[in-house]
Amino acid sequence: KDTESFDKNVYDWSSEEEEPDGRARPIQVLLVKDDHTFELDEAALSRILLSEEVRDREVVAISVAGAFRKGKSFLMDFMLRYMYNHASENWLGNPEEPLTGFSWRGGSERETTGIQIWSEVFLVDKPDGRKVAVLLMDTQGTFDSQSTLRDSATVFALSTMISSMQVYNISQNVQEDDLQHLQLFTEYGRLAMEETFLKPFQSMIFLVRDWSFPYEFPYGQEGGMKFLEKRLKISENQHEELQNVRKHIHSCFTNISCFLMPHPGLKVATNPLFDGRIKEIDGEFINNLKVLVPWLLSPRNIDVKEINGSKITCRGLLEYFKAYIKIYQG
Ligand code: GDP
Ligand code: MG
Repeated sequence: KDTESFDKNVYDWSSEEEEPDGRARPIQVLLVKDDHTFELDEAALSRILLSEEVRDREVVAISVAGAFRKGKSFLMDFMLRYMYNHASENWLGNPEEPLTGFSWRGGSERETTGIQIWSEVFLVDKPDGRKVAVLLMDTQGTFDSQSTLRDSATVFALSTMISSMQVYNISQNVQEDDLQHLQLFTEYGRLAMEETFLKPFQSMIFLVRDWSFPYEFPYGQEGGMKFLEKRLKISENQHEELQNVRKHIHSCFTNISCFLMPHPGLKVATNPLFDGRIKEIDGEFINNLKVLVPWLLSPRNIDVKEINGSKITCRGLLEYFKAYIKIYQG
């Protein structure tokens, strides 16, 4: 098998689903093939969601979605660090330590459209005493032609339907076509779901990478909210199409927020030998990472997945996953 196309800092997940060394790794559970059909690895998904410690726990499903090579996996590796360090003060750890986890070094990544799930589901104690299971998902699409846009829409829709929080990772700004894509994707999702008077999805976070106008809207969540309010504002003199996109997005999610991230520096963006050590990442990026990751993942901020107003366990999530996929497979 072609393990050569993977980085040395990434566990070899191209081999069978077995984990010979027992280490956690990303598992491709949904794959869009070249002929645009979908392949669900039900066995792998079941192994993760039905393992004894987690299957009857309520599940928090966190998804990061968006186009390739925009730093999703890089971010997810920091999310993993936070989870593995049990949300401690010093979760970022050793500044000299290379970053590992999801494959993230752009140049060598195979471009598959689909969903990867981290094989380890984390058990977290919420402040109210409940123990919940936290699942991390990496979702990617290509968005570049009509045919792949349909694939991406399905993948994005599915990941939005099964997550309690969808992080929409976009580069530099929130453009009109980012909003149009989101409308298309969520419409795909909504059509496949039972009708209800509740909003179909939970939290949507616009994560803008390489934000370069901090003097207009400062980095972080507050600047992000002000910026997003402006971008999503509906006004009488707007073209009807622009109004509809905005109304649609508002009608789909219970919570909508935004975080503006600075550029991580040239080493991260351009040096092929960069291995993810914090020492070589811009301080401004790290400072905001220290805000972003706990804001997304701290035990008091995470929300259990709900469908039609009921809380879902890992076991339940597996059933929904299978049912939703059937709809798209027609
Ligand atoms: P993914 O395909 O979205 O998962 O992107 P990756 O995480 O694999 O990152 C692709 C490339 O972008 C890598 O070379 C990273 O070092 C680099 N990168 C990671 N985060 C950022 C960011 O915030 N801004 C920029 N400009 N590059 C980034
Ligand atoms: Mg990636």
